[in-house]
Amino acid sequence: MSSVRVRFAPSPTGPFHIGGARSALFNWLFARHCGGAFIVRIEDTDLERSTRESEENILAALRWLGMDWDEGVQVGGPDGPYRQTERLDIYRQYVERLLLDGRAYRCYCTEEELAAEREALLKKGEMPRYLGRCRNLSPEDCFRLEKDGRRPVIRFRVPEGEVINVRDLVRGDVSFECGGIGDFIILKSDMIPTYNFAVVVDDHLMSISHVIRAEEHLPNTPRQILLYNALGWSLPEFAHVSLILGKDRSKMSKRHGATSVEQYQEKGYLPEALDNFLALLGWSPGGEEEIFTLEELKQQFTLERVAKSPAVFDLDKLNWLDGHYIRQSPLERVTDLAVPFLEKAGFIATPLSRGKYEWLKMVVDSVREYLNCLEEITVHASIYFMDGVEIEGKEAEEVLAGEQVPAVLSAIQKKVASREELTNPEVKLLLKEVGKELGVKGKQIFMPLRVALTGSTHGPDLNQIMVILGKDKVSDRLARMLGKIAGQV
Ligand code: GLU
Repeated sequence: MSSVRVRFAPSPTGPFHIGGARSALFNWLFARHCGGAFIVRIEDTDLERSTRESEENILAALRWLGMDWDEGVQVGGPDGPYRQTERLDIYRQYVERLLLDGRAYRCYCTEEELAAEREALLKKGEMPRYLGRCRNLSPEDCFRLEKDGRRPVIRFRVPEGEVINVRDLVRGDVSFECGGIGDFIILKSDMIPTYNFAVVVDDHLMSISHVIRAEEHLPNTPRQILLYNALGWSLPEFAHVSLILGKDRSKMSKRHGATSVEQYQEKGYLPEALDNFLALLGWSPGGEEEIFTLEELKQQFTLERVAKSPAVFDLDKLNWLDGHYIRQSPLERVTDLAVPFLEKAGFIATPLSRGKYEWLKMVVDSVREYLNCLEEITVHASIYFMDGVEIEGKEAEEVLAGEQVPAVLSAIQKKVASREELTNPEVKLLLKEVGKELGVKGKQIFMPLRVALTGSTHGPDLNQIMVILGKDKVSDRLARMLGKIAGQV
């Protein structure tokens, strides 16, 4: 195994955002490309917002997307536990070390005092930050304050006048002045570490070689570098991946549509389509090709080809990719994935008999070319399940108003009645015969027949529609349409 060790470290505080899935995928692809290790760690120190349910959803979504992990929650490993709330003793040891070294100190400021300081700085047009009121308290001061009932937080003593340079594999060198940072909290008064502290301890103890995460964490990185330095630890490589924007170039949000992996899963997007799409959000191998299997992505993924510019979430592209994979997948798989949608729409009831399943495969095959995601199957396949045919729009009505329509439809009806069963060659033949006998051309047969059977002027292959509907339904729909037309005259 190579020395590459990367991690995905989600905070389980809500739906699994596609930005998080993109970070996970980039880490996973990088690890797999390099023959390194991929670790999943749960950052649940926000006790109020973290839930086990959210953690489980994230982990299930990772597996659904085809990502496995070598170490982490659920699978274990030598550097566990992998859930931060189970590592509290570990963090406290390092807090202690920083306190002893004078690199951290106890701060007793109250919320009110901090708010007042913040307000004063803002008034002066300065960045709000902690100005170090408790920096030089003596042990006696601390004792007195604690006797008064104050519970301290632990702050890191940020060195004055230094400039921290973040060497980023995607963004290049980015500098931050320590003066703008202010002594930040590493351990809260409830003894829970803050993100910036826990992440450094964990990344070090888990020997993480590359920290690949979203750009929004870039401002945290100088704080983390200060902690690495104070603890005498070497730095990992950093790679901050650009934001994901909506098509209107504002930050991707609910306004732009579904933002969580679960929502796409629920709509019936295929995981390989989502992987392919997410991989291209900020990475490209160069060239025109846009379709990549997970295997190909693994082979081609490098951090050098991760773009600095923001990625744009283009739903049309996701739809296009998903449509591609729906058309390409084995029919049985697409059928199995379509079943829950058809069942929910009330079109079928499970368990399905063998015969019904085989029939359903034909249904799926006849409409899958129209689908952006499997949820849409209920719209396109409804022609096979509806009871009566509803005429859709003016164009369809005009088709039915044709002079020859009753003759054509009743000729077809008779032919259908004379057949044992409707197979593809039989249907072809009988329509040809009708054309010949009535002396009418293809379109004059196909259009009224299509509208009579489906209510619409467009849709799947007509022969296939007849085969799938079968003799009885075709006869029934033709009879009803003939009755309707006769009633209108
Ligand atoms: N828990 C952080 C998040 O979900 C992880 C950030 C990091 O990768 O360092 O944003």
